[in-house]
Amino acid sequence: MTDKCFKCGHILNPGEYTCQVCGQNDMEDYRTIRNYVRSYPNSNAMQIANATGISVSKILRYIRDGSLTVVDNHPRRGR
Ligand SMILES: [Zn+2]
Repeated sequence: MTDKCFKCGHILNPGEYTCQVCGQNDMEDYRTIRNYVRSYPNSNAMQIANATGISVSKILRYIRDGSLTVVDNHPRRGR
């Protein structure tokens, strides 16, 4: 699983959020997500994505990396 810089497409090392080519810093998104999770601790990735406008895949990346702790992303249908 490789992550790419969303700006220039440069391959990022696992757990690395700053692109070495263009310097694009993902930490801003991370901060946004973290602030949201602090306010709404029981959110799943989908809810965070809807609320922050950050892509689910990126949020899941932070979660996988252990940077974020949220509830399991069990899709609940028929709510
Ligand atoms: Zn880049």
